[in-house]
Amino acid sequence: MSASVPDGAELTRWRTAARIAGEARELGVRLARPGALRRDVAEAIERHIRSQGAEPAFPANLSRNVEAAHYTPDEADTARFETGDLVKVDVGAHLDGAVADTADTVEVGGGRRQAHLIAAVHEAVAAGIRAVRADGPVDDVSRAIASAIRARGLNPVRDLTGHTIERYLLHAGKSIPNVPGLSDATFREGEIVAIEPFATNGEGRIANGPFGHILRFRRPPPADDAALAALYGRFRTLPFTARWATRPEERAALERGRRLLQTYPVFLERAGGLVAQAEHTIRVGPAGAEILTAAALPAADDG
Ligand code: MN
Ligand code: MN
Repeated sequence: MSASVPDGAELTRWRTAARIAGEARELGVRLARPGALRRDVAEAIERHIRSQGAEPAFPANLSRNVEAAHYTPDEADTARFETGDLVKVDVGAHLDGAVADTADTVEVGGGRRQAHLIAAVHEAVAAGIRAVRADGPVDDVSRAIASAIRARGLNPVRDLTGHTIERYLLHAGKSIPNVPGLSDATFREGEIVAIEPFATNGEGRIANGPFGHILRFRRPPPADDAALAALYGRFRTLPFTARWATRPEERAALERGRRLLQTYPVFLERAGGLVAQAEHTIRVGPAGAEILTAAALPAADDG
């Protein structure tokens, strides 16, 4: 079984969602300044997405330092970014389920202490994207990513992967590992794929941390629970956060629906290493990858 790939009006929606996600990523990178409230930055990213007529495909992830992924502030979060924080700005936007997913890493305050880690993931995402071929092996991309990161004496994070994307499905089933030897899949022309290398000065393995305020419906709720069904209607099977469901009846519905909800832990680098990430959503074209979320990730020579 293989789903159809987007074309026509649906592909146009994907390109638009990707343009918006890229803009939101750049906004987050600019706003992650010393003293900025992490919650304000997340909300500004999500507001930009909505202002452009799209919806966030998942809560703005603002993971710091040893946090590799899956942290979004809740409404009680009073943490502010500090000079030297290594922040992964990972954002998603969707239009009618056409999902784009993109990330970059910024050192708060503009210092260069972690420029090496950031350059490694910029080089790795560029190398991975160059290795994409219709009908070509996923493993070529994994090898290119790992080589770029190891060339800087760093480790790729092997527990986190890129992924194919389908309508309302952020992780559609095909993984793009960040180390070679784990996939025998091939790319299919027209497929939408997120390429997302993570580099660390730690071990390259992940441990689960505390709940990072990100939820997802595992399955549809019973139709006779109107408040829960309304939340499912908004988010479907995409990740969301209780920050977006603040009315008392919505909070009560989430409490009732607990068994239907997957809760995501923050992913931590197991050895306590710092983690950088870069991510683009691409389309597998006849002559290689077309980057949909381009909106200016820095060139690969910045470190
Ligand atoms: Mn992402
Ligand atoms: Mn992703």
